[in-house]
Amino acid sequence: MGVINVLDKHIAELIAAGEVVERPSSVIKELVENSIDAGAKNITVEIKNGGTTFMRVADDGCGIYRDDIKKAFLRHATSKVKTANDLDMISTLGFRGEALASISAVSRLQVITKNENEEIGSCYEIEGGDEISLEDAGCPTGTTFVIRDLFYNIPARSKFLKKDVAEGNAVSALMDKIVLSHPEVAFTFIRDGKQVLRTFGDGKLLSAIYSVFGKDFAKGLIPVDYTLDSVTVKGYISKPINSRPNRNMQNFFINGRFVKTRTGMAALEEAYKGSIMVGKFPSAVLQLTVPYGIIDVNVHPAKIEVRFINERPVFDAIYHAVKTALQQGDERKQIHFKEN
Ligand code: ADP
Ligand code: MG
Repeated sequence: MGVINVLDKHIAELIAAGEVVERPSSVIKELVENSIDAGAKNITVEIKNGGTTFMRVADDGCGIYRDDIKKAFLRHATSKVKTANDLDMISTLGFRGEALASISAVSRLQVITKNENEEIGSCYEIEGGDEISLEDAGCPTGTTFVIRDLFYNIPARSKFLKKDVAEGNAVSALMDKIVLSHPEVAFTFIRDGKQVLRTFGDGKLLSAIYSVFGKDFAKGLIPVDYTLDSVTVKGYISKPINSRPNRNMQNFFINGRFVKTRTGMAALEEAYKGSIMVGKFPSAVLQLTVPYGIIDVNVHPAKIEVRFINERPVFDAIYHAVKTALQQGDERKQIHFKEN
């Protein structure tokens, strides 16, 4: 007599959902990434009570066809990958086809959407993975997701959520990163009825930095623009005198995706060696463009980490980019002094 059960589909689904959806900010990340992949120019994000009771992500992207709506909520259903070869060349933020399946398994979800080629839109409702309704909806091209009562059907999970303020702060921090990684998109972020962040989508990284970190921070930056072989490094770094006691302001983006990268931090700090005190750290917002062949984003569902198939070109490019920018920053200062 054996002891092994095959879990029923419902439980298996809840477990799988837990991999992708940990807290409100994970939901917002997935939904906003979908909006960006859909080519949206304007994205509005709204949360209430830290996102635990209400989250809304509205975009003016391509929308979802009526015939695709139910499919979009199946696990491993995606319009972004067709063959195994595509996995080597991922240019979209999503590709696993897991987010909508996961989010809808652990919340009450409503989506209103219309594809640009359709006359009439659709409103689909799904709760805890169970379909409620699919109806016609009059709406402009684009997609609006409303997620209510995250984890209402898994009390064990909801107990692990932090206080609403902490969850809301996590969403805010995420919004900062997203806004910085996509200056070409106009974002509005509303928290408990108050608009707390707005960008204009003019495509300029400095405008996005200004919106997120404020005028004083943006004013004191040195531009970086450098290409070494196939790796391009663009963005802004702090003047050595504006260094900080921690690494919190080191932001790296690879091919439009916010990432944590030790290689990036190490290269950045190596380039500042000798110009700042030990125990102080530079700030940076650096966008890297690297060939898809030298990174592997297929590491974790949350995809915050990337693996470099070869770290050296990335390290070297960042190091030289920053070093060059710092030197030019110095020269500019000297010119400035001479003029005075
Ligand atoms: P993935 O992003 O990995 O493809 P998701 O579960 O996040 O998987 O989404 C499933 C599919 O639903 C996407 O591939 C896309 O076709 C569609 N979709 C999701 N969100 C949007 C959106 N905001 N606009 C247009 N299509 C969307
Ligand atoms: Mg997705």
